[in-house]
Amino acid sequence: MIQRAAVISTGDELTTGRIVDTNANYLADQLTQIGVELVAVLAVGDVPERLEWAWRQAMAIGDVVISTGGLGPTVDDLTTETIARLAGRKLMLSQAVADHIRALFAGRGRRMPENNLKQAMFPEGAEIISNPIGTAPGFRLPLTHEGRSVHLIVLPGVPREMKPMMQESVLPWLRANRGSGEVYLTRTFQTFGITESALDEAVGQVISAEQARLSFRASFPEISVRITVQGDPASAAQKLEALAARVRERLGEFVYGEGDTSMEAVVGELLSRRGLTLAVAESCTGGLIGHRLTNVPGSSRYLKADFVTYSNAAKIQTLNVAVSTLEQHGAVSEQCVKEMAQGARKAAGADLALATSGIAGPNGGTPEKPVGTVWVALAAPELTFARRYQMYGDRQWIKLLASQVGLDWIRRYALGLELGKSLPFRR
Ligand code: ATP
Repeated sequence: MIQRAAVISTGDELTTGRIVDTNANYLADQLTQIGVELVAVLAVGDVPERLEWAWRQAMAIGDVVISTGGLGPTVDDLTTETIARLAGRKLMLSQAVADHIRALFAGRGRRMPENNLKQAMFPEGAEIISNPIGTAPGFRLPLTHEGRSVHLIVLPGVPREMKPMMQESVLPWLRANRGSGEVYLTRTFQTFGITESALDEAVGQVISAEQARLSFRASFPEISVRITVQGDPASAAQKLEALAARVRERLGEFVYGEGDTSMEAVVGELLSRRGLTLAVAESCTGGLIGHRLTNVPGSSRYLKADFVTYSNAAKIQTLNVAVSTLEQHGAVSEQCVKEMAQGARKAAGADLALATSGIAGPNGGTPEKPVGTVWVALAAPELTFARRYQMYGDRQWIKLLASQVGLDWIRRYALGLELGKSLPFRR
């Protein structure tokens, strides 16, 4: 019965600080969601005796050990042989895997180097976990370690390959072998415009610690809260729905989405549903809003144009901002940002247009317009609305926050909500 897991992350890149261990982070999240307790994460370099040490520790503490990395074809990829040595198993060639790797190379018009055959060698008794994207499959090896039954699950290090293997093979297997009829169900709420402490307080008012586990995650500029309930499948599902309804009601307009979504995806969905088209005029966000919008497949249905008008001349020529506006009020002003939005709306023939103009810093601030001053405007058929925000942070942070506020305005407009309530610290 699988209750406790240990994770091993392998590679010199991890122990020399060249990459961050996002694999362990992802595995921790996935394991927690299905109710398998992660008891240890070990990161270890490509050194045989250290690998052996890590595997011994992990096998002593986990019912399952999940490792990523060290499955490649080169001499420093030592995971498979370390396990075979520790488990006292022979390495066997899988002809099917060898043929598959050869076919992958042939498909790309290349001959397979002989060392790639290493990726077709598995400890005796291993069950192969197929890799839909890359060359190296993973494997699961059940064994007995100091009288206990332990399962070793070995996956490649490349996150893009490891994640689908987790989703398609490992998680279903773990769920089936967790040994309890109970399930863990989760719901994540994505919020914007409310601080982490305010969110904690608000959710805490409607859900107690006995009813569900709450976890908050701030991944700038969004803050999400996840509720996890436990129980038999039917009652857990019912409980989750009831608690989710309370959260929805309590947080209201600050929740922009549920589950794995993004502000730009939500905005796209709303614009499509309402049949609205959009143009964007960007100064301080430098194309970031357009970039985020076009990351969503199908965005051509609603995004007509993104004008990145960084200079005054571009604002005048492309968006028809008046020279007198720039002379009297400057580019970071209510008048300018409104004219940018109206000009973009007209030039693109769109229903709505969003504009940003601000000072992202670190230079260029003045006492009247300090770094972080950002004007946002939305031009719609019935109104043009603008508001000034004072943002804090470095250049990247201000650009990202300004893009998020702008996208939230579109969401709010499409839902008929008050526009300016996008940030708790507006002025
Ligand atoms: P390959 O066949 O590419 O050699 P592998 O299974 O041997 O795959 P590694 O060589 O250890 O994996 O890592 C390949 C790449 O995957 C690394 O360069 C790194 O970019 C990424 N990677 C490895 N481990 C991690 C990790 N723990 N977190 C995030 N990224 C990782």
